[in-house]
Amino acid sequence: MDREKVIKAVEQLLDALGEDREREGLKDTPRRVADAYAELLAGEGQTAEEHLSRTFTSDCGDTVIERDIYFSSTCEHHLMPFFGKITIAYVPDGKVVGLSKLARTVDVFAKRLQLQERLTRQIAEEIMRVLKPKGVFVVCEAEHTCMTCRGVKKAGSTTLTSCALGNFDAQKRAEVLNLLK
Ligand code: ZN
Repeated sequence: MDREKVIKAVEQLLDALGEDREREGLKDTPRRVADAYAELLAGEGQTAEEHLSRTFTSDCGDTVIERDIYFSSTCEHHLMPFFGKITIAYVPDGKVVGLSKLARTVDVFAKRLQLQERLTRQIAEEIMRVLKPKGVFVVCEAEHTCMTCRGVKKAGSTTLTSCALGNFDAQKRAEVLNLLK
């Protein structure tokens, strides 16, 4: 990200919106917005390899479920936040990973310009690629401020997406979804 360019662009945006950007409240806004974007998009170009490589050995083959990992991301259609929670279920193949590492994995993909469907799939794909479980199922429930702060939708309405990869059959998926009700 080119910070100086972002600052200039926000100045132009404020001008285009007809605002007086010399007034007190707006004076530092371009700089603040640039700093916010730097943080919101910090996951661009990152992988979760270093997080998902920190594994423990486990010979138990039961499904591991980490539920309600809270995240916030930025919708690429409107540059507005969407946020919610993600549940990750996987069937280990000899290795498990700590909750904090899964949360960091979520962040790597959430801190980008995103779409909810893509966020859900990228997390599942990265877990398959690095942790190599027998199967993984990722469920994401999110509120999109581009829908709840404008347009027709009511606040609090959420969108649900999911992605199953590898060996994670319909019965196991139903068990996880049931747990989330
Ligand atoms: Zn949007």
